[in-house]
Amino acid sequence: MNRNASAAPRAAEEVESYDHEVDVVVLGFGCAGAAAAHEAAAAGAEVLLIERAGGPGGSSALSGGEIYLGGGTPVQRACGFDDTPAEMEAFLTAALGPHADQAKIRLYCEGSTEHYQWLVDRGVSFNASLWDAPTWMPLTEDGLMWLGENSWPFDRIAKPAPRGHRPGTSSFGGWLLMEKLSAAVVDAGVGVHTDTLATSLVVDAGGRVVGVTARRYGEELLYRARRGVVVTTGGFVDNEEMLAQHAPQLLGHDKVSDGLDDGSGITMAAAAGAATRRMSVVETALSVVPGLIARGMLVDALGQRFVNEDTYPGLISHAAVHRRPGPVWTIVDEEGYESLDERERWGVRPHHVAGTLAELEQETGMPAGSLQATVAAYNEAAERGEDPYFHKAARWLRPLRPPYAAIDSRIRFHADRPERAGSTTGVAGFTLGGLHTTVDGEVLDLAGQPIEGLYAAGRASSGMHGENYISGTSLGDGTFFGRRAGRAAAAAGR
Ligand SMILES: Cc1cc2nc3c(=O)[nH]c(=O)nc-3n(C[C@H](O)[C@H](O)[C@H](O)COP(=O)(O)OP(=O)(O)OC[C@H]3O[C@@H](n4cnc5c(N)ncnc54)[C@H](O)[C@@H]3O)c2cc1C
Repeated sequence: MNRNASAAPRAAEEVESYDHEVDVVVLGFGCAGAAAAHEAAAAGAEVLLIERAGGPGGSSALSGGEIYLGGGTPVQRACGFDDTPAEMEAFLTAALGPHADQAKIRLYCEGSTEHYQWLVDRGVSFNASLWDAPTWMPLTEDGLMWLGENSWPFDRIAKPAPRGHRPGTSSFGGWLLMEKLSAAVVDAGVGVHTDTLATSLVVDAGGRVVGVTARRYGEELLYRARRGVVVTTGGFVDNEEMLAQHAPQLLGHDKVSDGLDDGSGITMAAAAGAATRRMSVVETALSVVPGLIARGMLVDALGQRFVNEDTYPGLISHAAVHRRPGPVWTIVDEEGYESLDERERWGVRPHHVAGTLAELEQETGMPAGSLQATVAAYNEAAERGEDPYFHKAARWLRPLRPPYAAIDSRIRFHADRPERAGSTTGVAGFTLGGLHTTVDGEVLDLAGQPIEGLYAAGRASSGMHGENYISGTSLGDGTFFGRRAGRAAAAAGR
């Protein structure tokens, strides 16, 4: 194999000269790279950002823009919610667990109002209004949304407060976040080299990372980093080989990414001795319309409910895709379907309609009597405003009456482009595992020691997540810990 084209580290002793030399080199211009580069520059370092694409953005720019913030932000207060870092920590520990990174969660929660202000000071604004219903993504400009905090069991673990903060635009807002952060990075004096693919790290005889090799239009470039290299190249959902090795549960499903999440940064750091962590943990999104399942129910192939349908849809998706016998069906009655605003249905229409549940069982292939028993138990308790099995909030409880509809979650919908709905597995996801880092972004080796000169943040690293995911924690921990990594790199070797 051509060594230059591989991710194997280049020995510094073999390098005759560098094309560029700065204090800190940041690899990848998504949200984590922007935050790291900005803070390194703000700390007085000379910084260069290397980005393989033609401009900044990455998956961050395509994202919904939801950022998990709390502990008493001005938007929360303006919407009438008291919140504290301790309540936020209790929620995140429960929702991101089991095995979430407690030290990272604690710092993230303690620093959340400061981080909110940092984003606002960079021009990211959040409207002081709440979207108050289960959804993946409000189609409004509301700046605040629930991400499961007011649903069981979390409403008993922590005082409910909505913490999904959304940039001031309707629907997907990642572009706006990246527009503001990119402008702030340029204003901070960071140099940006686009169309430049980082290929390997340069390591000296003492094991310190001192630079990067890269390729631009077929030409090899060498970058010297006097203080540190920060890897913020995103996750690895677009690399089938890495998925097969580490997170096979996403094989065959759609990717939630910009198409460039090939794990190249993780691979080049691992080739230089970095440890990885939680590589099998993934975010999972199933094609279900939150407003419809809240008004009806979600059942597996055996006609069984398995979750409170009013919680964060990512947790519902995780439970459905990784733990239940599929296919998974939304069961809703005509009244429930019609009571959801048409825009909120995202173009989803019933795939089967029937006057009786027995007919619906036949059409969907559920065992005879299974759905009938589930709906009978649900209706009996819903009459009393209760859900003794899964504790869906009384607001969403109502006995289901004929005619009924079943919606197949294997048919993928497009929230903003209903005409693009198509037949897939109905599942999409991205990876959450990555380089093992300290809270300051130092990348650890297999012995648990920091590799000098090497830092990471965002989805190239393992962040706060345990086995679960809550929307907003990727842009959230990417920017929060990206800032810390940038500051640590700027301070290294001084
Ligand atoms: C449709 C969609 C909706 C989402 N919604 C949300 C949401 O609302 N909230 C949330 O928190 N998360 C959301 N996510 C997830 C979130 O966007 C990502 O997990 C997050 O943006 C990752 O940030 P990052 O900075 O680590 O990586 P990225 O933003 O992907 O940035 C990595 C950058 O590195 C570059 N790069 C990669 N390899 C190299 C290399 N070898 N050399 C040079 N450059 C390289 C890439 O081109 C890219 O620009 C969503 C994602 C998608 C796709």
